[in-house]
Amino acid sequence: MAEKRDYYEVLGVARDASSDDIKKAYRKLAVKYHPDRNPDDKEAEEKFKEAAEAYDVLSDSEKRAKYDRFGHNMGGQGFGGAGGYGGFGGGFGGGFTMEDIFNQFGDIFGDMGGGMGGAAYGQRRARKRANKGTDLRITVKVTLKDIMNGVEKKLKIPRLVACDHCKGTGAKDGTAFKTCPRCGGTGYQIHTQQSIFGTQQYETVCPECNGEGKIISEECQYCHGSGVEKKEDIVTFTIPPGVENGMVLTMRGKGNAPRHGGINGDLLIVIQEEKDPDLIRDGDDLIFNLMLDFPTAALGGTAEVPTVDGRARLKIAPGTQPGKVLRLRGKGLPKMHSNVKGDLLVNVMVYVPESLTDTEKSAIESLKDSPDIVPTESTSKRIFSRLRHIFNKENRGE
Ligand SMILES: [Zn+2]
Ligand SMILES: [Zn+2]
Repeated sequence: MAEKRDYYEVLGVARDASSDDIKKAYRKLAVKYHPDRNPDDKEAEEKFKEAAEAYDVLSDSEKRAKYDRFGHNMGGQGFGGAGGYGGFGGGFGGGFTMEDIFNQFGDIFGDMGGGMGGAAYGQRRARKRANKGTDLRITVKVTLKDIMNGVEKKLKIPRLVACDHCKGTGAKDGTAFKTCPRCGGTGYQIHTQQSIFGTQQYETVCPECNGEGKIISEECQYCHGSGVEKKEDIVTFTIPPGVENGMVLTMRGKGNAPRHGGINGDLLIVIQEEKDPDLIRDGDDLIFNLMLDFPTAALGGTAEVPTVDGRARLKIAPGTQPGKVLRLRGKGLPKMHSNVKGDLLVNVMVYVPESLTDTEKSAIESLKDSPDIVPTESTSKRIFSRLRHIFNKENRGE
């Protein structure tokens, strides 16, 4: 847990500030960091909570006196009882919710109404949750070629869109509303509660109208009041070069529309890499296992290997050993958002014939005892040491 800031510092007041000054300072911070003004801002929320905690202690003369003597460390010094300051301070940092703050310090927000335009402020707060549609998730298959060059995809996606006839409101012609009878149009309800701080008033979003202050008097006949309709939407998007399996691209606002208006959800595009029949991906590099015939490995020659965009011809040096890795620079995949490209690693294997005709057999028999066909101990050592080096460094544990 981060070091707790001094409560006086949090509220920006002097150590001998009057309770009035403390209240004023807290109110200022509470307005500044209020979740209505800072939607989805985690930092503001933390500040809002921090200020509430400081206010809780400094506005209570007994807690304040203890805090002045012992500072933040009292929780562990025998004040940790349930009702004591230590217990409260401890529980505050961890489990104090926004709702708790509104409940405990409702009077501050009640007072605020006067300065901030009364019901308007309350309404704004009562609607603190913006209506957001759900996200849509689709999986898009991409080939190595798509990953190499990037690709534009056009997909038909069934999603909820705002109903055209009622403009997403769910009300007939978008106008058939009446004032919510439960809250009288304010969008919130006021509750009174007895607590250790005395009588508290706090507001909650009106459950009848969901904070709107109005309800539908006649439903839109096309969407039956939901404000949304299912539609096949054509969505075009570009997948950049270098994407990887499992990556998620987000298209803001291309998800479902919410009921009764608000912000659309997002479209999440999950990348699924299709396995290539020949090439194995290893980060930005590609690996190809080349099966070389014995004569070419022994005598040298050329071999053709597949690449993402066609084929490449490779020179094979005489005496090429199985296990050798040949590197084609820049024939791998691009790194995302850069010009850097990986390599194509050609992993050489040498084919040992599995069945032979009599003629082939006798040709090989005749070579069997030839001195250059049989490796000596030092030849083996030399080749193994070289391959081991290549294997470890280049072949990445394959
Ligand atoms: Zn209402
Ligand atoms: Zn409609």
